[in-house]
Amino acid sequence: MSAQLTNDVSSLSFDLLINGQLVAGSRTLDVIDPATAKVFTTCACASEDQLEQAITAAKAAFPAWSATPLDKRKEIMLQMAEAIDAEAETLARLLTCEQGKPIAEALGEVGGVSYFLRHYTNYDLPIEVIEDSELRHIAIHRAPLGVVAAIVPWNFPLLTAISKICSAMITGNTMVLKPAPTTPIATLHMGRIFSQIIPPGVINIVTDQNDLGGILSSHPDINKVAFTGSTATGSKVMASASASLKRVTLELGGNDTGIVLDDCDPAVVSEKLFAAAFGNNGQICIALKRLYVHESQYDAVCHYLAELANGAVVGSGLVAGTQLGPVQNRMQYDKLKKLIERTRSEGTIIAGGDSPDLPGYFINPTIVRDIADDAALVTEEQFGPVLPVMSYSSLDEVVARANDTSFGLGNSVWSSDAGRAAAVAMQLESGSVWINKHGDIGPDTPFAGAKMSGVGVEMAEHGLLEFTQMKVINLGKDIAV
Ligand code: NAD
Repeated sequence: MSAQLTNDVSSLSFDLLINGQLVAGSRTLDVIDPATAKVFTTCACASEDQLEQAITAAKAAFPAWSATPLDKRKEIMLQMAEAIDAEAETLARLLTCEQGKPIAEALGEVGGVSYFLRHYTNYDLPIEVIEDSELRHIAIHRAPLGVVAAIVPWNFPLLTAISKICSAMITGNTMVLKPAPTTPIATLHMGRIFSQIIPPGVINIVTDQNDLGGILSSHPDINKVAFTGSTATGSKVMASASASLKRVTLELGGNDTGIVLDDCDPAVVSEKLFAAAFGNNGQICIALKRLYVHESQYDAVCHYLAELANGAVVGSGLVAGTQLGPVQNRMQYDKLKKLIERTRSEGTIIAGGDSPDLPGYFINPTIVRDIADDAALVTEEQFGPVLPVMSYSSLDEVVARANDTSFGLGNSVWSSDAGRAAAVAMQLESGSVWINKHGDIGPDTPFAGAKMSGVGVEMAEHGLLEFTQMKVINLGKDIAV
């Protein structure tokens, strides 16, 4: 890829995908490049009528798609993977232009899309026979649900979408996908690519101005909502799905803790902690968001983290060598700036706390020490490049402090003694706990949020099952009829 990338996307158009057709929107959506804070393109935006058309198309496509042999569905997914690989550079640039992440990370995300598509073709949904006796033959089958609504956020627009697309396609469901209003174009371009491959209506893509999500998640013809986003919106989705008792999977916010035991090498562990907290500019549901370091190593780890933050290259993701891009949108940027201002009187900022002299939504990576557990930066999900670091003295104390939150997405424990770390990990209340790493997820590993971080499971076979209805076929062998 050329080292001089620009946000000129004028050769492309970004249309909705409804019933296999690329359609102009009834409205348009301005798309802002967060590295310049300026509109750099517009794309199609669906009306409520167009959303209805998308749902109708998905419903009409369901009987044929669910009856399509699994091998054929897999063949289509492999073709989708190849087509994504062929357009990886374009997709990555679109992602960087609208989302802000460095181009290398955007290429990684696009690589993840084709990896997910290929990986999911390894799954079958075998029939599970739980009894085969003289009396009965009982088998568990898995039937698709119907039309799935996929609603996704702006931090990993393509990966979040493809994880839901793969699960739906393998299990025989159809889908209406809605990206976040601030990151629509890479997803619409992906829809353009898929429109050549997927039968009409199986996957439909509509965009909105943050006004169609509620209609989608309460629609009577939607059988399941696969939602990724904030906890506040997740509870609205659950409420709106309740009238027709839709199935829901909610992948929500987190406030992940890292706990550093007293036996780590501060320099070595700090590099890993920094990457865990500041990847994608901290805008990851499972970013490390609160760090607890044993008092014997506290000063050293703070020192190394501040050094790493001060040395990080902040700038446009289109420029080679950038490590941290801008915050994705104005609302999130303003929220973070306010949080940092508040933090000045609650803790000590030892790196960052300001913005570089650039036009976009940039914040220098910020490390805060000597901050209390009840400060907003510690209790709330910051979702950006600001990390609070606290010290602790005993393991019982730090476990209680880590668990004192309504979130429960992930946590990590860091130690040169895996057994000690595992004993701590077992006491942490979250869907995932990593040891000596943080945020290692993928299509082969189930991912679930505890407490207010989620409902249900995504990814791997556990996640696939959530896109199905269990159907128990119970044959009486000793019954004459
Ligand atoms: P958000 O909840 O504001 O928006 C997510 C999506 O929901 C968007 O597409 C939005 O348009 C849509 N939406 C808005 N109102 C809706 C409604 N009433 N009904 C249905 N949909 C509606 O979240 P965001 O700000 O885009 O993303 C950041 C949040 O997402 C963070 O909290 C982050 O932790 C979370 N997240 C979680 C995961 C996970 O897997 N657990 C992954 C990524 C992001």
